[in-house]
Amino acid sequence: MNPSIAAIMPTAPRPNCIFVSGRGSYLEDLHGNTYLDFIQGWAVNTLGHNHPALVETIQRQAQTLINPSPAFYNEPMLQLAERLTANSAFDHVFFANSGAEANEGAIKLARKWGARYKNGAHKIITFENGFHGRTLATMSASGKAGWDGLFEPKVAGFIKVPYNDSAAVAQAIDDQTVALMLEPIQGEAGVLPAAVEFIRSLRRLADDNNLLLIFDEIQTGIGRSGELFCYQHFGIEPDIMTLGKGLGGGVPLAALLSKQEFSCFEFGDQGGTYNGNPLAAAAGFAVINEVLAEGFLHRVRELGDYLIRHLQVLSNRYALGTVRGKGLLLALETRDLDATQIVTMALERHLLLNAPRPNCLRFMPALNVAPEDIDRMIEILDGILTELRVMSHEA
Ligand SMILES: *Cc1c(COP(=O)(O)O)cnc(C)c1O
Repeated sequence: MNPSIAAIMPTAPRPNCIFVSGRGSYLEDLHGNTYLDFIQGWAVNTLGHNHPALVETIQRQAQTLINPSPAFYNEPMLQLAERLTANSAFDHVFFANSGAEANEGAIKLARKWGARYKNGAHKIITFENGFHGRTLATMSASGKAGWDGLFEPKVAGFIKVPYNDSAAVAQAIDDQTVALMLEPIQGEAGVLPAAVEFIRSLRRLADDNNLLLIFDEIQTGIGRSGELFCYQHFGIEPDIMTLGKGLGGGVPLAALLSKQEFSCFEFGDQGGTYNGNPLAAAAGFAVINEVLAEGFLHRVRELGDYLIRHLQVLSNRYALGTVRGKGLLLALETRDLDATQIVTMALERHLLLNAPRPNCLRFMPALNVAPEDIDRMIEILDGILTELRVMSHEA
């Protein structure tokens, strides 16, 4: 008998399967069925399920030290912060437990900087369809359709403009503006990449108007886009960046990174009970070391190109829309086909896919996914699309 789901607060429509174990690109449910996973904990499991390096690190750290308190330094926290700063444009790291919490930190840091150095400027320009998390401030910063009237009153001070429209950004800037905050690829919106020229003009606008440029790389960071950080594709540096998801490889871990000159928190401004705990930090250290290993990111780009080519073939064969994204954060427009129905049919065939929008499929496999597993996913999807096209002909 299945354990009961009655005690779980119903906040999401979950399918009727209960997962018990995972390995690489596969999950196993209570009845011993295996599923091919192209969601990977929502682009979280950088190395796939239960990668040996991650499991061994967590086991060793659990036996050594789990939490001395955020009031003390610990070794993994220092090692991971050192690794992140040595490989990015940033000097300081604040660790958090979720992406939303890291973004809260970024918003607070920008407001602190505005209070200290910019006459109390506090407004942050964010983008339509953007997603920054589910706390009150990060929901207020998000531009997700349908969130407008929820949990009012919202946190004030977020001005929303269209994505990839630098004229709209320029127009929205006033003396109260302190920062521009965006995802370099809008993930939840359906994997919408920022144009290079747009990002460069945001950098110029930020420089010209004394604003902070904040990149939310919670979904795009840690190799997902084919570079360690997505900003590296654009030839610019943000002032502040947030990480989450892939950073812990499945373990709850997030981070707020800042250049030294903007790192203006004073004692007591920011903190949290679990922040920088050695168990999560050790997991993050294991993940980043794998991602930084010789050839890993090159391989992500190759695998991304391989997946794009196959998705393009399906798109042509079934008269679907564009394939877009970078690295292993990709999407396929399904045009007239209902992506939610495709996800349901995929689940029946033991393939886990995601539809961030009604006409869009998102692919976020492990960064070390085997090409044979890409082939297998494509084969299943091919079968589903054949069936749907036959059905739409019969209709
Ligand atoms: C997932 C996500 C968040 C929120 O992260 P949580 O860990 O769920 O709080 C914020 N921003 C982006 C871009 C995300 O993809």
